[in-house]
Amino acid sequence: MSASTKRLASWREIPIGGAITEPGNSVKRPTGDWRVFKPVINQERCVRCYLCWVFCPEPAIKILDKPYKTASGREWKITFEVDYDFCKGCGICVEECPVKAIDFIEEVK
Ligand code: SF4
Ligand code: SF4
Repeated sequence: MSASTKRLASWREIPIGGAITEPGNSVKRPTGDWRVFKPVINQERCVRCYLCWVFCPEPAIKILDKPYKTASGREWKITFEVDYDFCKGCGICVEECPVKAIDFIEEVK
């Protein structure tokens, strides 16, 4: 079902106060379509410090066992990537990255 045809819940179907009644349910609700700008990690500049992963309010920074060798020959054993199904484009990772390795570019849909 596309976003434009998705039926919204009526007020009778929403828990009182909009409370979350089922813990750990955020993985069932992709928030990626909220984005206006998207973060893109520059693997050459990233120093694998984990700060984007720490600060991201969604489960949207993935740490992969994927080796990466920079142009200057530095070898990393892991790679940080953005999960665009869940990244809502808040830009916190962009602000917190100490080496400015995350570009924030306009989303094209
Ligand atoms: S923009 Fe926000 S939601 Fe997306 S990866 Fe960065 S911190 Fe997480
Ligand atoms: S905060 Fe920046 S340098 Fe640190 S892991 Fe994330 S992208 Fe890489």
